[in-house]
Amino acid sequence: MQNTIETAAGLFEKMQEKLSRVVPEFELKYKAELAYKINQLKKKRNAVILGHNYMEPALYHSIPDFTGDSLELCRKAATTDAEIIVFCGVRFMAETAKILNPSKTVLIPSPRAGCSLAESITAADVRELKARFPGVPVVTYVNTYADVKAESDICCTSGNAAKVVESLGSGPVIFLPDEFLARNVAKETGRHIIFPSRTPHREGEELDYQMVGWRGRCEVHEKFNVEDIAAVRRQFPDVVVLAHPECSPEVVAASDFSGSTAAMIAWVEKTKAPRYLLLTECSMGDNIAAANPRKEMLRLCSVRCPHMNEITLEQTLASLEQTRYVVDVPEEIRVRAFRAVQRMIEIG
Ligand code: SF4
Repeated sequence: MQNTIETAAGLFEKMQEKLSRVVPEFELKYKAELAYKINQLKKKRNAVILGHNYMEPALYHSIPDFTGDSLELCRKAATTDAEIIVFCGVRFMAETAKILNPSKTVLIPSPRAGCSLAESITAADVRELKARFPGVPVVTYVNTYADVKAESDICCTSGNAAKVVESLGSGPVIFLPDEFLARNVAKETGRHIIFPSRTPHREGEELDYQMVGWRGRCEVHEKFNVEDIAAVRRQFPDVVVLAHPECSPEVVAASDFSGSTAAMIAWVEKTKAPRYLLLTECSMGDNIAAANPRKEMLRLCSVRCPHMNEITLEQTLASLEQTRYVVDVPEEIRVRAFRAVQRMIEIG
């Protein structure tokens, strides 16, 4: 962990070892100085920094005390003793940290770090669905805001979505808000999924469904398509293709492995393919490449998440210096959202 490095020059050397293939030297020097200041201030302020796998490589490899996907970071947020949690990720993640550990000050370095999935659905939308499908349990992907989680029975991540759905038995479920993740989970669990229109169904009308989805999309993962995979396979027939389950079911079917960011990292680490193609956010590709220097990673990398990209070392330094931007969740919402998140954590 970089916290033990006492000088900016030492930190630069450490970062260079990992990142010389992915970040130019002049940029790395500048970023090492910023990272050094952040690490000093972090100690002084008794703060912990959580870094999502989609953070840019120099930040990812210099300041976080813990890195991981949203579930791993939620667990760290729930148990930290630090007074301040700085969440280098997007807003719904920082809110989840606050839901799990409300006595801490939770900061997000940029107020613009949103998420197309979280913004695709409101608490009022969920209430409307519950009224249309009474008694059907609501499973909500963690990529949602606290008020949406509060309307849900249980949350899930891309890593445990099928397990969470199956934990509810064989009856129908409402699965929100990611259309592609829902279709992938429906396929995996053998369920028929419907996407109801905004027009209410007629009274007495029989709907054939075991899952009810919503048409939210991750603006990054929806961009990958089967033609991209075919083109790479033509050029590199021995490539192993890994797709995030927020990609379409067609892309997942054309890939060799599908899993959460944590599962993809574990897969690359434990297998010995000649080369890998990662169909996910491009900084994560850079971070996996940096952690596995002997493995060849192919990139289709024009797909950077604009929300994750809002989080920079400069913003993180300002966040710690000025205690900005504080993430709060009203207590009445937090308590209900906590139940849904906690229920998911218990399932694992
Ligand atoms: S990568 Fe997709 S799901 Fe993740 S924060 Fe960006 S828009 Fe949201």
